[in-house]
Amino acid sequence: MKIINPATEVVLQEIAEDTSGSIAEKFSQLKTAQPAWAKFSLDRRINVLKRFSELLAEHIEHLAAILTAEVGKPLQQSRNEVNGARARIQWLTDHAGRYLSEEEMSRDEKMAEVIRYEPLGVVCNISAWNYPYLVGTNVFVPALLAGNAVMYKPSEYSTLTGLQIERLLKLAGVPDEVFQVAIGGKEVGEILLTTDFDGYYFTGSYKTGQYIYEKVAPKMVPCQCELGGKDPLYVADDISDIAAVAAGTADGAFYNNGQSCCAVERIYVHEKVYDAYVKEFVKEVKSWKLGLPTEAGVYIGPLSRASQVQFLENQIDEAKSKGAVVLTGGKRVAGKGYFFEPTVLVNVNHQMEIMREESFGPVIGIMKVSGDEEAIQLMKDTAYGLTAAVYSRDEKRATDILAQVDAGTGYWNCCDRVSAALPWSGRGHSGFGATLSHAGLRAFTKPKSYHLRKA
Ligand code: NAD
Repeated sequence: MKIINPATEVVLQEIAEDTSGSIAEKFSQLKTAQPAWAKFSLDRRINVLKRFSELLAEHIEHLAAILTAEVGKPLQQSRNEVNGARARIQWLTDHAGRYLSEEEMSRDEKMAEVIRYEPLGVVCNISAWNYPYLVGTNVFVPALLAGNAVMYKPSEYSTLTGLQIERLLKLAGVPDEVFQVAIGGKEVGEILLTTDFDGYYFTGSYKTGQYIYEKVAPKMVPCQCELGGKDPLYVADDISDIAAVAAGTADGAFYNNGQSCCAVERIYVHEKVYDAYVKEFVKEVKSWKLGLPTEAGVYIGPLSRASQVQFLENQIDEAKSKGAVVLTGGKRVAGKGYFFEPTVLVNVNHQMEIMREESFGPVIGIMKVSGDEEAIQLMKDTAYGLTAAVYSRDEKRATDILAQVDAGTGYWNCCDRVSAALPWSGRGHSGFGATLSHAGLRAFTKPKSYHLRKA
């Protein structure tokens, strides 16, 4: 497998993919080693993961350079990602004692009722490339804390980062056999689906997630899917600082080149503030520097995958053929690298793919609405349900709107944001199950109920 730098198209490294034989060997090691890891005290496992977080900090420049080289995100955004993962690990390790320890639900002279959170065993994590540290941390950190062994398959587009994660986890004290990396793409993923894992935790596209869910269903083991989104954002007419809202929401749409599961993917603006908002939004987008992700000040680097350039061009062409107007951007950048101009479209509607299907790139459609009712109807008009955002001065107005949208996360005056303290979960085509929060700590366990009567 060739690892390609998306900014230069230079081959960074060639690396051998796993085979069914090597996966079977890794799986057998995981299976053998897991019970001893589960017998470590929880405090000991917590300390190992805390050490992993310290190592991320110690090696941050090296890790950020590798991440930028293989996925193309600007260097500062790579550093931000590593630091973001550290914040999540902090929350998870701080709260593991509270949510993974035995719970006594009742006790009297005769009877006690107790819950123990047992690890599932050996879990499989098939992961995405867009935020490998963040989406990886959501899964392998709580899974390890709970006493599981983990087979981690990084995306084929973030393999080198996956190998760094493995190196540092082992340096931190995770026993060699307890964490294994599966190297490769779809074919290696398929091998994992036919292996007898005790749980599957997938982050990626709706199409792959649906396939994996169907494929592993006969195993009767837990399967969680964190999938894509078409996240809506509504700007109400009572916002006070239009320029600040335009800048903040543009960042929510274009950070990481729009390649975030919770990136703002469609914007609805109240007609009273529409013209001013669009003007400020376009001004903000035009102010960004596009270029090599290693250059200081660059906000828009290359897309991570070559195929995405054509995909975005097709979406934009389809929208234009139905009447959309491009205010800025709209095409690939000539020369080496998978660069695409940040693009703003207006005169869009829900007959266009750009307002219905995930773009996962630096493209946004902005639509004028007559008021809250129309905004709600349009926000709801989707098969996805990851996040939704409302910008307004009025909290009640915003939360009343958000309550009507079937999404796992609602944002008032913010967007494109994840907190380790809150469940991260999708609905509909955005998936099911939750990572992060108390729910995500327990997602890798099976509760066992003890009814303990004194003789
Ligand atoms: P993808 O579905 O193409 O691939 C994800 C993983 O699945 C990769 O490791 C890939 O090798 C593997 N895979 C592909 N086909 C497989 C098969 N047949 N069997 C087993 N494994 C297979 O997704 P991607 O391009 O890596 O990631 C982008 C998508 O992920 C976007 O839709 C994005 O919104 C979503 N995402 C969601 C979240 C979330 O938390 N909800 C987070 C990050 C990304």
